[in-house]
Amino acid sequence: MITGHIGVAFGARAMRSTASLGWLLVATVAPDIVDFIAGFSGICNPGGLYSHAFPAVAIVALAVGAASGWQARNSTTAFLAMGLVFLHLPLDYITGLKYLWPGSPIVGLYIYRWPALDFVVEVPMVVAGWWILRRSGNAPKWAASVVTIVLLIAIQASLNITQQFVTRRTKPNGCSVASQLPEQNVVPHLYTAKHHVLSVV
Ligand SMILES: [Zn+2]
Repeated sequence: MITGHIGVAFGARAMRSTASLGWLLVATVAPDIVDFIAGFSGICNPGGLYSHAFPAVAIVALAVGAASGWQARNSTTAFLAMGLVFLHLPLDYITGLKYLWPGSPIVGLYIYRWPALDFVVEVPMVVAGWWILRRSGNAPKWAASVVTIVLLIAIQASLNITQQFVTRRTKPNGCSVASQLPEQNVVPHLYTAKHHVLSVV
């Protein structure tokens, strides 16, 4: 998932105005940040094994929770940040394919196969989150701005267009084995070919 995560962080900030929006945004994409670091470092992280699967995601949640609580001096920020890290997972199971734990099947609806569908799923999420935050009356000015939501929709559209016409891959891949995307006819809710090395979000 891409901008849908941002919408969830916006919604969380609308619920708790004392939380740091910056940290909530970091938390909502934290497993993907780990993915990028692994990819750029040349570390093979198939199916989010070291970023999205247990126990790695629990370590990421604790790290982000501790860092945000300490920096923001705010326990609300810390607990919301930890929650957002864990909430990242079910949302990614909609869009991508992920290991649940080392050795588990790779699961996910993998709607990235249909970038237009991904756009239709994610844009309402980010618009709803932005709208709720804007209506809360305590949003940072930049977050409530129309420019912000237009930019986020443009980012979502450009990534989906890239997925459709250029590559399904949205992250750097540190695996030496060429990534292999599943065929169109895989069972949509449970992909069990564990030998495939994937690098989808
Ligand atoms: Zn992710």
